[in-house]
Amino acid sequence: MRKMQIFFKLFAIFIFSKKIDFFQQGVYITFYIVFGVCSMTFKEYWQSNISDGKSGLRAVLFDVDGTVVSGRNPLPGAQETLNFLDKSHTPYFFLTNDSHHSPAQKASLIAKAGITVDPQKIISCSHAITDYAVINDLQGAKVFIMGESGEPCFAEAAGLIPCRDLSELDDCSLVIAGEGKFDWHDTFQAVMNYFIRHPERKLIVPNPDSYWPYGTSGRMGIGAGAQARFIAGLLKEMQIEIELVYLGKPHKPIFDCALKHLRQTFGLSDLQPQQVLMLGDALFADIAGARNAGLQGALVMTGVTTREILSATPAGERPELIFESIG
Ligand SMILES: [Mg+2]
Repeated sequence: MRKMQIFFKLFAIFIFSKKIDFFQQGVYITFYIVFGVCSMTFKEYWQSNISDGKSGLRAVLFDVDGTVVSGRNPLPGAQETLNFLDKSHTPYFFLTNDSHHSPAQKASLIAKAGITVDPQKIISCSHAITDYAVINDLQGAKVFIMGESGEPCFAEAAGLIPCRDLSELDDCSLVIAGEGKFDWHDTFQAVMNYFIRHPERKLIVPNPDSYWPYGTSGRMGIGAGAQARFIAGLLKEMQIEIELVYLGKPHKPIFDCALKHLRQTFGLSDLQPQQVLMLGDALFADIAGARNAGLQGALVMTGVTTREILSATPAGERPELIFESIG
């Protein structure tokens, strides 16, 4: 097996030393993974990309869990890869559906896995609240938040006035599905009745996820997306349709937000979506989401997607690029 891996590694280096296009590189890497051997890491690919620039890629977005860390453990080569990107001045950000933690809080969680991350490089699904507020002319509007939405609060940073007092619910222009611990019984009941009275108002869902890994024994927590859909489902039984506005992966607002940050932070005003690579471990949230937003998607085999899942995925839905790990 070891000899086989060395052979494929040498073959991969040969492939990347040749002047072949992005699509062909993807086909070769897909071939490796389907046949059970993928010796190429993202770092090796990016080193090659920098040297020949043939792919046209100019920036990278990283998913966090399953890509950079796994719970409180670092994934192989993650810190070295980030150091390399910093050294080579590669524009990059982290993209997370964690709407519970502010960038500083998220950076300190990642630090517990031994990975040092600049909080300024973290984009949460809740950052997209700012764009939503601007587009819909909501600055200064009072909004009700179910649970928590970062500390400092994302909604406040977006120019909104956050409210958690159920007695003031009717004064709020919309509801945001936050995360963390809160009184589900009283909150869900009050919010459900708010939408019975105001079905035209929106339920904003920064994190669309139904569940999330909770602890270390394979337990799962109920996600903010599932909570929002629970309330919408109850209303639907009463023939009341409300609009859920999703912001996080795989939905477009978080990718649009990341593109805006890449252009502004790195002075890349001409950056096009197809010049950005989204690296993640989830076929739907990361890869399909990136494609729908016009970005390139690359899968890492260090998270939720197994080789069995990949083999069972229709060819048209597989990512162009698949890597063994980030680094
Ligand atoms: Mg992930």
